[in-house]
Amino acid sequence: MKRDTRLIHSGQPRRSDDLVNPPIERASTVVAPSTAELYNPTPPRRHYGRGGLSPNHELREAIGALYGADHVALAQSGLASVILALRAALPDTPAGMQALITDSAYGPVRRFCDEELPRYGVTPVYYDPRIGAGIAERLDKPTAVVLLESPGSLTFEVQDIAGIAKAARSAGAASVIDDTWSAGVLMNPLELGVEYAAQALTKYVGGHSDLLMGAVAAKGDAAARLKDKDVLFGGHVSPDDAYLCLRGLRTLSLRLERSGASGLAIARQLDAHPKVSRVLHPGLENHPDHALFKSQFNGSSGCFAFVLNGIEARESETIAESCHLFRLGFSWGGYESLILPCDRQIRRTAVPWKAEGALLRLSIGLEDADDLWADLAQALG
Ligand SMILES: *Cc1c(COP(=O)(O)O)cnc(C)c1O
Repeated sequence: MKRDTRLIHSGQPRRSDDLVNPPIERASTVVAPSTAELYNPTPPRRHYGRGGLSPNHELREAIGALYGADHVALAQSGLASVILALRAALPDTPAGMQALITDSAYGPVRRFCDEELPRYGVTPVYYDPRIGAGIAERLDKPTAVVLLESPGSLTFEVQDIAGIAKAARSAGAASVIDDTWSAGVLMNPLELGVEYAAQALTKYVGGHSDLLMGAVAAKGDAAARLKDKDVLFGGHVSPDDAYLCLRGLRTLSLRLERSGASGLAIARQLDAHPKVSRVLHPGLENHPDHALFKSQFNGSSGCFAFVLNGIEARESETIAESCHLFRLGFSWGGYESLILPCDRQIRRTAVPWKAEGALLRLSIGLEDADDLWADLAQALG
């Protein structure tokens, strides 16, 4: 089956009744008829809420079908999913090793790497997201894990995912990607050789700005490690939120298509605007990573940024505040459009961020693209 058919037909209710959607089961415990059955159920059965009742079970199945994964772990937030993936990826005795982290990593993940990895004896080392084959030289020291995020969610550098994953594997290092931008739909990092794909379901999968959740998907040995660590940290998501995520998955591909198409149209209009010096959208032909992007992705999401021409952060905030349809807010991937002045968020150590003006990020929602452009044009004016 093709991807869009899998998105609709995977994660169906497991009971043989006639429901289209799984019931929302609220339960911590699941009782058994005997002690023998409680400890050694045959066939294996649900025995405790944390393992996932409906619809948590169906959501894992559906995300597994999307990625072609052998195990999917659900996490309380996107941040928790990246942390869980990193923890599953660390070898048993990581002390003295390094972790190679893309300089474009999501800020709170970066903070986790700086403050918590050293407690495992692992030193975070940041690398240029555009390092490509050059990653091989950085893998000359014992490396526990390589973290990717592509494109970076503020600055939109595209990484050579297949190349970096392959180099990591041959050096005996695990690989983890923050796959929130593609939502597992525009690209499949597991097919490109990455071991663990983490994603903030909060963004496009949820899609309606009403929940926080994350997922990690993996195959083979990585899936076994993930399954082992999955329960260790006590993570669990509510069945209500799992239901909303599953519901979001059914329309994910359509929503991405609309956001992506409107986003590209608005990116082209921004590109021609005199107050804009650069549009950081990898789907634009003039983006420095466009060819690499085309070779790995089958489309664009609606999240991208642009650099203003000689306009500093203060004035960029006034522009953002002058929008009516675009609201000011963190996050992205919802049905409503958002604008974010983001210079204050950029942290770089491998490659300093240099730009001709302030950086504004957009999340293009499901409104009419002409209305969105009119709103941005008046604010820029
Ligand atoms: C938002 C985001 C996350 C974290 O998701 P939360 O659910 O808010 O914790 C992780 N990575 C990227 C790239 C994000 O944009």
